[in-house]
Amino acid sequence: MNRKSLGIYIHIPFCVQKCLYCDFVSGPATIEIKRDYVNQLLKEIEIRAEQLCPFSSENGESEDNVQEYGSAKDYVIDSVFIGGGTPSVLDGEWIKEILCKLKKSFYFDKNCECSIEVNPGTVDYEKLLCYRQAGINRLSIGLQSYNDNELKALGRIHDYAAFEETYRLARKAGFTNINIDLMSAIPEQTEESFNRSLKQICELGPEHLSVYSLIVEESTPFYDMDLKLPNEEEERQMYHNTAEMLKKYGYEQYEISNYAKPGRECRHNLRYWRCEEYIGFGCAAASFVNGVRWKNTENRTEYMKYLADGKTLQGNFYCEKEMLTESDKMSEFFILGLRMNRGVSLDEFKEKFGRDIYEAYNISLENHLKHGLLEIRNNRIALTDRGRDLGNYVMRDFL
Ligand code: SF4
Repeated sequence: MNRKSLGIYIHIPFCVQKCLYCDFVSGPATIEIKRDYVNQLLKEIEIRAEQLCPFSSENGESEDNVQEYGSAKDYVIDSVFIGGGTPSVLDGEWIKEILCKLKKSFYFDKNCECSIEVNPGTVDYEKLLCYRQAGINRLSIGLQSYNDNELKALGRIHDYAAFEETYRLARKAGFTNINIDLMSAIPEQTEESFNRSLKQICELGPEHLSVYSLIVEESTPFYDMDLKLPNEEEERQMYHNTAEMLKKYGYEQYEISNYAKPGRECRHNLRYWRCEEYIGFGCAAASFVNGVRWKNTENRTEYMKYLADGKTLQGNFYCEKEMLTESDKMSEFFILGLRMNRGVSLDEFKEKFGRDIYEAYNISLENHLKHGLLEIRNNRIALTDRGRDLGNYVMRDFL
């Protein structure tokens, strides 16, 4: 049987405390709530494995007329990402239970990439070993900065020493594929201090680095604080320094904010940028199957209650649902594809949509090619270095 590939995302909405810049669905909770959440998550996996996509992909179909679209049997899982929140606040055995349930419910590729996000101060050696036994083969460690004052300003629970200990234990436990998250444009951060963070991490030699600029979101405490943030020019300089320094250390930039040693790109994230299918479990988890995108309720209590009451997963269980039209699919494929340094293949676009990319986006393409924001390389369209600086402006034209 020819099975389609599928990624799985698991959302763990718990953290020790809320960071001052964070607008993710996450927060502290009692151990009882955490355990109950895991119980409901296991239930959701079981239900969803029987009926993968709860909506018809036909436009106009009402939610009351729910059709079954595909089941676990039709797919093979080649990436799992356990994110949050801070999944490592859970007992390691519970993570094992979740993985066991997934493996019982779905077919797994033997080379499946299986990642978990961990934060320093929430894992010890035993927990890391437990992850390995569960089949997790990639760790993503949230560091953000080498500078303890910057970590404090962000409201992180750890200092650099705690990170270093987590990293050391992870290697000792046998993890050979590690990502580190760093942040630029932190309040009071200078170019020099950012470069020190970069250099320090490069010396450690993780396989992958994600480096994002801080964005102050309206719903966060940072929004109402009087912050001394690096200006746009300084922020752009930090961005350029990142690509330049990481290149010297053997990392290749493969997406706007992601860098990897050869062959260590994050397979799960590539899935999103290539518009491939994925299924999400947990509150606020998004899924994309059969051209339908939906998102589970962001309300943790409602999510748990829905499953505990044994209701069919319909109606308010979802907070978003979108049937993508052909034109939506085309524009997503192009825009998300431009996030990757390799860009979008002209042949793949034609094969997927039966149309030439020039015919679909004639004027906008010409305009950006002429102004040096896009370029054609190896029969692919990609952002130039300058185009990457103006990425949002370019992508807006293809919506
Ligand atoms: S650890 Fe991550 S998810 Fe948790 S509050 Fe901080 S930024 Fe948000």
